[in-house]
Amino acid sequence: MAHWPSSEKLFLLTGQQRHQAKMIHVLLLVMAVYFAVLAALNVFVFNDFEIAALDTFGLAGTLYLIAYFRRTANLKVTSWSVVSILTAIMMLFIHITSGMAYSIIWVTVLPPISFFLLGRRYGAWVCGIVFSYVVVFFFVQSRTSVVSPPGLASVLNVAEVLLAHWFLFRFYERSRSEAYAELERLSETDKLTGLYNRRHLDMLLTNEFNLHLRSQRPLTLVLCDIDHFKRINDKNGHLTGDIILQEIAETLRSTMRSTDKYGRWGGEEFLFICPDTSGEAAIAIVEKLRHALANRAFTRDIKVTLSFGIAISAQDQDAEQQLRRADEALYEAKRRGRDCFVVADG
Ligand code: GH3
Ligand code: MG
Ligand code: MG
Repeated sequence: MAHWPSSEKLFLLTGQQRHQAKMIHVLLLVMAVYFAVLAALNVFVFNDFEIAALDTFGLAGTLYLIAYFRRTANLKVTSWSVVSILTAIMMLFIHITSGMAYSIIWVTVLPPISFFLLGRRYGAWVCGIVFSYVVVFFFVQSRTSVVSPPGLASVLNVAEVLLAHWFLFRFYERSRSEAYAELERLSETDKLTGLYNRRHLDMLLTNEFNLHLRSQRPLTLVLCDIDHFKRINDKNGHLTGDIILQEIAETLRSTMRSTDKYGRWGGEEFLFICPDTSGEAAIAIVEKLRHALANRAFTRDIKVTLSFGIAISAQDQDAEQQLRRADEALYEAKRRGRDCFVVADG
């Protein structure tokens, strides 16, 4: 299924937001179909032009939102607009039909939609307010209606079902969002070091590269590799090697800037993605890290050094080409004797 918003906007969204974008996509389509079918039914079968006008208004709003969301990728405005349109139309519908013909049952679609789109807090507020209003409306109806007024038992049944929906969907949204966050965390981290894994770095690189193309600000990539790691493993054992990898990850966490993205690119290789960073700034990062490594007491007092290849974004080069230049520069740093950096030619 095609994704909304358009692909050039999609990179602005995180995993959880993409999930939400897909849900909005499906929801808007379903809403458009429902409103169109209901409008036609009310014109041709029930001859109820008032409700047909309401459905047409809903259809127009939905189509406008589809266009708006495609253009802007604004999840927040679109989510609130979806919930507002649905709530407004449900309320008007219930009023026009005076709560008859089971029109009240429509409000039960509100919790799954509003909890998912607005989150637990705002979803709870929206559902709470709308549900309270509906129960009061139904209660007043039971007192004032002259044609078959609902009895007290019906009012209570409606109130109980709505309350159960409120609780259940609130709980469901909590477990869903927590499970999703955990799944996302597991899928993007490397088990040994806790750093981002290659899969996630690939995605970050695509995103950062697109942002760099838009902003025209420099993007610098740094590939680094542990020097003589095989020797360290052979001499001290693989488990010690693993501890060294974890200690390097710790050093990275304490030295890298918060705007930089970094992770484990391969076995003993790391990649840094530094947005809005010139060559000099990247060299400063690398020097700071070399200094931190030189001063760190690694397990068993092992001396650990890294070699670095730095590639600054260049005109007419894609992310893959830039990465290849970083790799060549890293190779050159190894050739020059290790524990140093090389900046790739433009
Ligand atoms: P160079 O300075 O040229 O990079 O030499 P090197 O020995 O570091 O490079 P080489 O590619 O020969 O060896 C890499 C070693 O990294 C071999 C491999 O066993 C080790 N390695 C890769 N992943 C892991 C890991 O997860 N744990 C441990 N302990 N070792 C790893
Ligand atoms: Mg290597
Ligand atoms: Mg190595």
